[in-house]
Amino acid sequence: MSGVRFAMIPLGSTDETTMALQLRPNCEYCDKDLPPDSLEARICSYECTFCADCVATKIDNVCPNCGGGFAPRPIRPTNEWRPGACVVKQPPSDKRVHLKYALDDIAAHVARLRDIPPEER
Ligand SMILES: [Zn+2]
Ligand SMILES: [Zn+2]
Repeated sequence: MSGVRFAMIPLGSTDETTMALQLRPNCEYCDKDLPPDSLEARICSYECTFCADCVATKIDNVCPNCGGGFAPRPIRPTNEWRPGACVVKQPPSDKRVHLKYALDDIAAHVARLRDIPPEER
């Protein structure tokens, strides 16, 4: 065998598009703006989105919606380093999300789960 061979690697496929994080625009708790390049955005596995301050001081790493823990939200690149994969081509969500539960309900939920590590919830 001789000659140059090319590997066909699908990039920017439809599947990848549908799997992109929503990048929600605000903290569900305090409504602070969390743009795609924010270092303060935290998400749970369902992409419930809060600011770092609320995760630390209001909900103690307990998601009010699912009970899971949080991780820093990855930042989508501004520049299109790979075809179709950047914040311009796959823009953030513009749908602001707000708490679905009352504050006292959330406080009880957090109190029940805060001392259990996320991996044991
Ligand atoms: Zn907040
Ligand atoms: Zn959640």
